[in-house]
Formats: sequence, C-alpha cells, structure tokens
Amino acid sequence: MKTFNPQAIYFEKNICEYELGKELLKKYENIPKFEISNHNNIEEMRTKQNKEFPYMKQNLIIGTRKAHKFVPNHKVSDYLVPYTSSGCTAICLYCYLVCNFNKCSYLRLFVNREEMLNRILKASNKDFNQNNKESVFEIGSNSDLVLENTITGNLVWTINSFLSNPNQKGFLTFPTKFDMVDTILNLDHKGKIIVRVSVNPEDIINKVEFGTSRLSDRINAINKLSQAGYKIGILIAPVIFLDNWQELYGNLIKTLEDQLSPEVKKNVFFEVIFMTYSYVHIKINEEAFPNTINLYDKNKMTGRGRGKYMYKNELRKEGEKFFKEYLSKHFPNNKIVYIV
Ligand code: SF4
Repeated sequence: MKTFNPQAIYFEKNICEYELGKELLKKYENIPKFEISNHNNIEEMRTKQNKEFPYMKQNLIIGTRKAHKFVPNHKVSDYLVPYTSSGCTAICLYCYLVCNFNKCSYLRLFVNREEMLNRILKASNKDFNQNNKESVFEIGSNSDLVLENTITGNLVWTINSFLSNPNQKGFLTFPTKFDMVDTILNLDHKGKIIVRVSVNPEDIINKVEFGTSRLSDRINAINKLSQAGYKIGILIAPVIFLDNWQELYGNLIKTLEDQLSPEVKKNVFFEVIFMTYSYVHIKINEEAFPNTINLYDKNKMTGRGRGKYMYKNELRKEGEKFFKEYLSKHFPNNKIVYIV
C-alpha cells in the first residue's frame, strides 16, 4: 500500500498544543498549510464541485474533536465512540461517510487523543463497577484506524495506552479494509482488542473499493493478527447484489475457507451487511467517476427515506438465506452475529 502524501494540510491553530499535533506539523513541514477555524466547516471545500471529490481526498485536515457522544449499540459493541479520525483517504463508491459528510469525507485527524481515550477508560470502569460488565467500545465507525495508524501511529498508541492501566476493563473493536497490521502484531494487547476485517470478492474490490487492500492481503492480515492472539471477526460487507452475486460471494466464502488458518477458522465470527446507497452517492459518483460501475439499481432497490436506498425485501431475504446456508456449510462452527 502506498504511503499517503497529502497535497495540502488544513489545520486548526490549537493543534500545536497537543503532542500529536506538533508531531504532525513537523512530519508535514514541507507540505503547504492553511489555517482553518473549524474542521467541520471548511467553506472552500464545501463549495467545490462533485467532480473534484477525488482531489479533495488528497488533503489532510487536522483539528480537535469537540463532540464526544457515545452512542449505545447492540451488535458487536456496546457503544459507538467518536475517536481519533473521521473519513479516509481511500474511495469506496458506497462509503457511508460520503453520505454523512457529502464531499467532505476526506481524512480528518483529531489530535486530542488522550481526552478521547480517557473517556473510554472512565466509561469502561463505570460499567464494570456498576454492572459488573466489561463493555465493548467501537472506535472505528467513522474511519479506518489501520489506515490512520500509518499516518499517526494512533492504533499502536491506543492499544498500549488502553492496556497499560492495571485496572483496565472492557474491550476495543474496529473494522478495517486494510492489511498494514505489522506494527500492532507484537503489542501486549491482552486479548482485549477485536479486529474485524471487512472483505468482498476481488472483482468488487477492483471495481468499487479504490485504494483499499487486496483480498489476499486482507486474508494474510487476518491470519497474522490471529496468530498474534487478537480476537478476529470477518465482515462480509457491504454485500453488493451484482447480477452474478451468488457466484461472487460463493467463491469468496470458499476462498476464505481455503486460505484462513485453522486457528482463525476455530474462533472467527461473521457479520454480513447489505449495501445501502444514497442520492448523494449517485451524484458524486456520476460526476467524479463517470466510467465506473453504477451501484444504483432501481429494479433491486427501494427508498428508505431522505434520499437513501436499500435493497428490496425479497432480495434481502434471498441474500440472508444464501449467506446462512453458505457460511454454515463452510464454517459450521462459527457464529454469524447478524445479517442486515
Ligand atoms: S475504507 Fe472505509 S472509510 Fe475508507 S472509503 Fe472505504 S468504506 Fe469509507
């Protein structure tokens, strides 16, 4: 995977009050910089045309995170936690961050990481003391922390800092589409980090997930992480119902069975998520990537409010049946946490 070299840095002035802020300013001292008052509202970016989307992704925005609301969740984690980044340098044509941030789904880094991790530590201790429960905190719902780690080292810092406290409680989890995991393999993670690697058929990665890691590299990363003692989940996500979806996903599941280590196969769990799409995606993708596949299929999709689309119920049911059957055939002892 190529190192990310930003074309320009947009930064909030107070980042130099933080250790990571200083580090990043030094690291990118030769890159053009523009001071901004708020990473949430960069007028110059908001007014850019949709077709400029891929160039906007070459910028790096650095600020501090101001909103810290934990959102209760009931899937793999107990809470979704805003953490050290949002957005990403890759371009997946369906990325839900695009629909949340419109054109502004470029990578934003937040340098007040001590404050954010302290909030998690406090919440995890509270849950343990009040409910005798070790909660799971999802720290990667707004970005890809494996990718971010190649720029900030934040994943290494987070795992070390989270687990260095002798009274530490709870677990951290994050999903990724990247394979650059070597820097976390030797950390003393104490089995309290759950890495969920997202996979798709290679054909879909090529056509839709630009700038992410190859399927074979993601599978290698899973095997390495498992060998290093990490708890592993596999997200088959998002499932895209192309015309030959059964063949594509059937082959994907067989490939996983063939290439995952016995250790992974013993313990891994699955999540399956069907793609959702939106009017914002349609507009940006047709203007920024006119030659790419059109993921909106009016025969297979239906509206679900506010310019958003999902696959029709009959297709979702067919998909659910397919994944249940295929996964239980090839991974008979593994849990499917949900199919949505
Ligand atoms: S890797 Fe994840 S965060 Fe980045 S563009 Fe793809 S879906 Fe979005």
